[in-house]
Order: sequence, then structure tokens, then C-alpha cells
Amino acid sequence: MIDYENLRKANEPFFDEYRRSFSRLLDSGWFILGNAVKKFETEFAAYNGNKECIGVANGLDALILCLRALKFEKGSEVIVPSNTYIATILSILQCDLVPVLVEPDIATYNIDPSRIAAAITPRTKAVMVVHLYGKACAMDPIMEIVRTHGLALIEDCAQSHGARYKGRMTGTFGYGAFSFYPTKNLGCLGDGGAVTTDDAEFARAIRMLRNYGSEKKYYNEVVGYNSRLDEVQAGFLSVKLGHLDAITEHKRALAALYQEGLKEDFIKPQFHPDHFDVFHIYNIRHPRRDALKEYLLTNGIRTEVHYPVPPHKQRAMDGVLVRGEFPISEEIHATTLSLPISYCHMESDVRQVIEVMNRF
Ligand SMILES: *Cc1c(COP(=O)(O)O)cnc(C)c1O
Repeated sequence: MIDYENLRKANEPFFDEYRRSFSRLLDSGWFILGNAVKKFETEFAAYNGNKECIGVANGLDALILCLRALKFEKGSEVIVPSNTYIATILSILQCDLVPVLVEPDIATYNIDPSRIAAAITPRTKAVMVVHLYGKACAMDPIMEIVRTHGLALIEDCAQSHGARYKGRMTGTFGYGAFSFYPTKNLGCLGDGGAVTTDDAEFARAIRMLRNYGSEKKYYNEVVGYNSRLDEVQAGFLSVKLGHLDAITEHKRALAALYQEGLKEDFIKPQFHPDHFDVFHIYNIRHPRRDALKEYLLTNGIRTEVHYPVPPHKQRAMDGVLVRGEFPISEEIHATTLSLPISYCHMESDVRQVIEVMNRF
């Protein structure tokens, strides 16, 4: 059986380092916002090329705190891709703002920059891009639009740790919101998240918001949250960050095998020299996706669908989202299939997947 993901196997190479990190924490006796969080924040800011990194509780909170720090008036509109994971849209709703869904480019699965301008109204305050599957969005045209219209830019980097556009890391174009959920490329062993920025004032606002709105203990400046990155997870993240480039290279090598080996019946991701992709997910599309998934399972290969239901068709969005037509998003959701591409997989696993798929 080839699993889609096996978190025990994917983390096993780091167990000794994790244990040493956990022992140090036990000995320190300091369990909230201590040296481990500070150390990871410094390391991740340096890795990314940001001046500031603020550890928070999870990726959803990273997005919410960014929106809170920007203090948009209630009912302001935020442009977001129609094919993202639900968390992106939830962050907008949790802040009493209005998500305006814009269709993706079917060649990249990322928001189509040529469709953004038509969605801008006098109430638009921000664009929230998502670097989906580990591919950076086309940032040149997006930066042009946000500059022209004076909009804030928030990047959902939950799937894009280490991904680059024209050599520049995701999370450095606007306000970066990261998730360290265990399956992400930089995943911890529980929940975790971070915000990245070069703006010292914005960073200060996020630091306050994550910690009850206070900078000085028992003195509260703003209405805040309890959304802190945990010391235990920060320690594990420092360990993992030291191996992130190796994890990325491993995934890129597996993706290259798929790209070369899979027959042309499958619509494969497009590679472009401007984009350094990190393959949080390697997906193909096929008109008979469900039959293909079933066939692979019968042959001992587990796959996933990211995602089976588009946000605008989720029951939770009944009466919440303005209903619209999103045929590109629906096409992607109906045909996409994610293939095994974890640090736990070997090239022989991928060769086996290719061999079975090419017999479909
Ligand atoms: C995982 C994910 C999130 C949410 O991260 P959590 O840490 O689970 O809250 C947000 N956006 C995208 C695109 C994601 O993949």
C-alpha cells in the first residue's frame, strides 16, 4: 500500500532532534512565549527574507490577525480566489468583512490577475492571494493592481513555504500568513502559524493582538486574542526549518518524475522558470477523476482530492456568500486528483504510481 501521507515516517528522520528540543524545553521551565518562539521567529524571518515574523496559534488565526491589524471598516470587501481552502474565506467572514470571489487561472490554479480589476468596487480594501499547492501567484500583475488601487495585500502562504516568484519568497510581497499544520511543507507536530512582514508597526500590532492586546503584562491596549505559537511547537519548527530545503528538493524531485513519466492523458501542472514550486500538493486533472481514484485505491495507491467541494457550494456558505457562477473553480474541483508526494515517499513509490496510472 502506498499512503497519500504518513506523518510518522515523514518525521522519523528528525525524532532525535525533536527529543533533544523537547528536553531543553522541560529543563527551561518556561512554556509560553519564551526562547523557543523567539528563536524560531528570528530563524523563519531570516529564511524568508522578512524583517519580522510573529508566531501565532495556527494559519487561520494568522489570516484573521492580519485583517484585524488592518482595521477595515465592517462590510469592506476582500478579493479572494474562488478555489481556495475554506480557511481563507473564513478569516474574512470572522472579521465581518465581505469575501469577493475571483476565478483562478486553470493553467496555474492560482487567482487570475486579469479578473481582479473587474471585481474591485469602492468598498474593496484588500486582495488576499493564495499560493495554492505550493506555486507562487503571478505577483507582478497582482502588485501592479494593488498599487494602482491602493489595496492591502495579504498572502495566504499555508501551502507555499519556500516557494518563490522571480527569486522572491512568498510572504514578502504583502503581509504573509503561514500555517504549520502537520501536513504542510513546514509542519510541526500540532497546530502553529506565523505572520511575516517588513513593517515594524504592523508587526507590533500582530504581537499585541496574539497576546490579549497587550505589550506589557496586565496592560491592554487593544481588544486582543489568545493566539500564541506554542513553545513546544516552536522548538520542533526550528528543527524542521533546518531541513526544509531538503524536504523541498525531495518533493521537487518526485514532481519531476511524475512530470516526465505520466502519460499525456493526464493534465499535469505547468512549470515556468519564473516560479520555484515547492509542491505542497502535486495534482493532475482527469475527466474521470473519481473512477481513477477508485482504480488507484484498488491497486494499493491512496490519493486525495484538494478539494471535493468549492467554497461557494459549501453548506456553511448558504446565505453567507453572495452566490455566483464559478465554472473554472467547479471544473477544477470536479477533475483534480492529488498524488502521493511526501517526504515519506521514495522514488520507487512514485515510479510505481506512474506505472499504475499509465495503465488507466
Ligand atoms: C491549511 C490552510 C489554512 C489554515 O491553516 P490552519 O493552520 O489549519 O489553520 C489556510 N489556508 C490554506 C490555503 C491552507 O491550506
